[in-house]
Amino acid sequence: MKTWLDAWPVYRQLTGSDPLGRGKAARSKATENVVSRTATADRVVQSVCPYCAVGCGQRVFVKDEKIVQIEGDPDSPISRGRLCPKGSASKQLVTSPTRETKVRYRRPYGTQWEDLDLDTAMEMIADRVLDARRKGWQDEVDGKRVNRTMGIASLGGATLDNEENYLMKKLYTAMGAIQVENQARI
Ligand code: SF4
Repeated sequence: MKTWLDAWPVYRQLTGSDPLGRGKAARSKATENVVSRTATADRVVQSVCPYCAVGCGQRVFVKDEKIVQIEGDPDSPISRGRLCPKGSASKQLVTSPTRETKVRYRRPYGTQWEDLDLDTAMEMIADRVLDARRKGWQDEVDGKRVNRTMGIASLGGATLDNEENYLMKKLYTAMGAIQVENQARI
């Protein structure tokens, strides 16, 4: 029969099956009722941490079509279940209320950010790309044909994955750009 003494961890430790107080004896009632988000998720999706070039494997736990937890993937040969603090906090990349979900634009000499609709933003980018390509175009250098533009350069971030980098390199090369780099190599 349980007595008031059972609410006292030291008593449980001295009289129960957990003499070192590292398990049941140290657990409060509140802790007993806690269920991990990983246990109640609807499904688990394997992914790769987008924060840096190491590419640690992640398990993304989803409930009601929302990410509820991200943990290291023990099946990953790269990281074998581990994540650094950045990777452990990457759930916030998706769920943070401060995440930007609209195009923001600050005009030259402007002091405020403005919302811009996506179609307008894409048109503006296309105009700038064409203009920079034309202004920086070189047919020849030192008598040799080069057919390139020095008006466009790309510095990719480590959050880009292989497939994105592949497509970007194709795009920039097709436009005549030769200055294509990635932060992951710096
Ligand atoms: S968990 Fe850390 S080390 Fe691993 S990919 Fe993410 S940021 Fe890089």
